Amino acid sequence: MPKMKISFLGTGSGTSTNRAHTAMVYDCDDGTRLLIDTSSGNSVARSGSELGIPVESFDTVLLSHHHPDHMSGLLFVQFLRALERQDAPPLDVYSTEESLEWAKKMCTSNHLNLAEVDNDGAKNRDGRQVLRWNAVTPGQQISLGPTTTASCFPADHISGAVGWRVDSGGLSVVFSGDTRFNPELIKASKGARLLIHEAFRTDDETQYANNHGHSTSGDAGRSAAQAGVAELVLTHIDSAFDADPQPLIDDAKKHFNGPISAASDLYQITVSSP
Ligand SMILES: [Zn+2]
Ligand SMILES: [Zn+2]
Repeated sequence: MPKMKISFLGTGSGTSTNRAHTAMVYDCDDGTRLLIDTSSGNSVARSGSELGIPVESFDTVLLSHHHPDHMSGLLFVQFLRALERQDAPPLDVYSTEESLEWAKKMCTSNHLNLAEVDNDGAKNRDGRQVLRWNAVTPGQQISLGPTTTASCFPADHISGAVGWRVDSGGLSVVFSGDTRFNPELIKASKGARLLIHEAFRTDDETQYANNHGHSTSGDAGRSAAQAGVAELVLTHIDSAFDADPQPLIDDAKKHFNGPISAASDLYQITVSSP
């Protein structure tokens, strides 16, 4: 029975003060390890180290969008990885062309041993290529391992933003990215085993959440129900719900009957085919 282990390295929203910013690791049954978003600062290395997931073990990154709570940690991931693994191939970074343009700008303006940034990737001072850009379009199927593929779908957040569906050995996991309630996500999540959805606020603050480009936990529950997924995990949680995310879970439960949990930093979940 295929399995996938998901490790939450960061589960805070951009305005969160007590959680690391968003990043997750998917460990697929075929040995493929994926980093989904990169948090900010050194959180991927720090949380990963606590869970026995060394920062140099990543070869593939899927980015949802270019907000710094999701992308700026890439600077430190590539830096630490290149130090630890002198013979490593370039770190493959997948996102939309627009998000990758922002990633290039970020790498150009931060010289964390990145000497040359171009349309292929980035090289360090030794002339070694440490990053490789892979531009994707929504719906495009990319192969990431023996039985692992991924495709992105548009998110309703900022220009170029996407969510990601990962399929491995017949098991599907969908990450919403940052988004308002998103019919594109529902289409892309049909039959998925697990939906990992952002939940910025409860339903009584729908207007506030939407004004900031985000979903409520009720939106996450509605999406899970309409897509027919088996399980829902809430993430990208704001400080207001840091100590007690139960109100978020309660709102999602009004719409979705399956199991619901709220992720916290260092939370791990293993899903298998029903
Ligand atoms: Zn965010
Ligand atoms: Zn964002």
